[in-house]
Amino acid sequence: METELKNNQYLFAISEKIPYYLYKKHRLLTFKGWPYKKKSKCNAEKMASSGFVYAPNKECNDVAICIICWKELEGWDSDDNPIDEHRKHSPSCILFNYSLDLDINSKHTLNTISTLLTHSFNNFMEKFFENFEKGWEKKRDEILKTLNRYYKK
Ligand SMILES: [Zn+2]
Repeated sequence: METELKNNQYLFAISEKIPYYLYKKHRLLTFKGWPYKKKSKCNAEKMASSGFVYAPNKECNDVAICIICWKELEGWDSDDNPIDEHRKHSPSCILFNYSLDLDINSKHTLNTISTLLTHSFNNFMEKFFENFEKGWEKKRDEILKTLNRYYKK
């Protein structure tokens, strides 16, 4: 179980800061070291504008996660438009209902903020359990393989 929890640690780290990440300027701060430079269509500014935070890991240095639908996208191309990619991979993300800049500001009511936070939390829980199950299935397969080997002897 420890491995599954470890695999989910990056999710916890992001989830703790969700209210803070409703602000684009705070999402932008996560993009330190983002591999796509200013002239790319998917530069840090555009990524933050499209609802993403930067969440690199050992295997992949261009992972970005939407703070509301928790869609994880990687393998960006400098010609990719982050808002189009977000829409393509997660068409039902409710961030699209608010503003294209996907930033929370004084125009937004408490009701909007609460809706966004509720969606984020529900999607986070769903993703958490999905990752957890994936980790568990992998471990179960390993155990079955070992048992099969043992009983064949
Ligand atoms: Zn989203």
